[in-house]
Amino acid sequence: MTRTSYAGSVTTKTRHALELHGVTKRHGTGDAAVTALDDVSLTIPRGVFAAVMGPSGSGKSTLLHCAAGLDRPDSGSVVLDGHELSGLDEAALTRLRRERMGFVFQTFNLVPTLTVAQNVTLPLEFAGRRADARQVASLLARLDLADRAGHRPAELSGGQQQRVAVARALLSRPAVLFADEPTGALDIQAAREVLAIMREAVDGTGQTIVMVTHDPVAASYADAVVFFADGRIADSMTRPDAAAVAARMARLSAPAAPARHGGGVR
Ligand code: ADP
Ligand code: MG
Repeated sequence: MTRTSYAGSVTTKTRHALELHGVTKRHGTGDAAVTALDDVSLTIPRGVFAAVMGPSGSGKSTLLHCAAGLDRPDSGSVVLDGHELSGLDEAALTRLRRERMGFVFQTFNLVPTLTVAQNVTLPLEFAGRRADARQVASLLARLDLADRAGHRPAELSGGQQQRVAVARALLSRPAVLFADEPTGALDIQAAREVLAIMREAVDGTGQTIVMVTHDPVAASYADAVVFFADGRIADSMTRPDAAAVAARMARLSAPAAPARHGGGVR
């Protein structure tokens, strides 16, 4: 029996967890075609927490989808953990995703009938690997979920559920953890706790994270912010602080608008 693998694919020794080289992606055809990503090049070194920001429709989700091999670029290349994605078929991409990528979404996407511990180990089991009970226990302890291992998602707060989703994404020690608006459904305190554990995963274990967010406070937990506008990288910022990020976003969201009085910054 042959086992579909990405291991024999073209690989490059790289210190980057993720590289995009001249990635262009259009959605739709003809007059209705939209260029969601327009010749985007971007590298994320290993062990870096990167935030992606930009107005609605600027291409953030398309970027995540192309980076994770869920969408194929029209041109350009994506290299994840040294693997060039364009050379892989769907089965190999699925394996690479299961083994080398983690995902956290705005909605927690936990399986309601499974316990916390079962939810956390599910992706490993899908990948045909056995979870190490001690590793699961220590991860749950690190995320302040030790006393919740046997609970079902409905018995947890939103913040606890999202911490379970983060634990699930971290267990396989993915090359990249992709997070799409991970704090979008949380109150401020729960959001801070989730961001703090993501930050801790980067500082403590060298995890690489790419997080799409609308929230300047969430972005301030990252090492760097990349700002998108109209499918292109409009700007970037290292060691971001929330006020500077908010100011940059306000200008991106209303580039040509005259100064408004009495209006709030979204
Ligand atoms: P963001 O996540 O920043 O809001 P998206 O990546 O979702 O942006 O979308 C970028 C652009 O591509 C938008 O103009 C959007 O309408 C368009 N788009 C995204 N997905 C599709 C699709 N499946 N079909 C057609 N257009 C799409
Ligand atoms: Mg989006």
